[in-house]
Amino acid sequence: MQDFNNTYDKENIFAKILRGEIPCSKVYENEFCLAFNDINPQADIHVLVIPKKEYISMDDFSSKASSEEINSFFRAVGEVARKLGVDNSGYRIIANHGADSHQEVPHFHVHILGGNSLGTLLVKGGK
Ligand code: AMP
Repeated sequence: MQDFNNTYDKENIFAKILRGEIPCSKVYENEFCLAFNDINPQADIHVLVIPKKEYISMDDFSSKASSEEINSFFRAVGEVARKLGVDNSGYRIIANHGADSHQEVPHFHVHILGGNSLGTLLVKGGK
């Protein structure tokens, strides 16, 4: 089981993308973050935004990142959504933290989903 509260795993897939060891379909990049298309899209538009520094999850990022990083990161999420053209049609952002959320990759990321109607947010007990 992943440990989402302790040690950053430098071999996680997003760390490898950031080091350029595996490719990604880049959408946006700035000093603090990178955005790329999700490899298994769950909507017509499904982009992931990740900080460049090593944060395991939302909990790690929100407790350890500097105000500048947090500010820049969430401004970038909005900017990416505008760049994707979903700011008028609507979109959803999701950040999974830990086991109950089924977080798979232990590097903090925000999903931007849009391009089609997304339905209701959650089904209780959904998989
Ligand atoms: P989460 O469950 O929130 O950790 O989401 C991880 C996301 O990373 C999933 O939506 C995967 O499809 C996506 N993913 C995994 N590997 C890659 C990759 N190499 N490039 C792009 N997206 C990926």
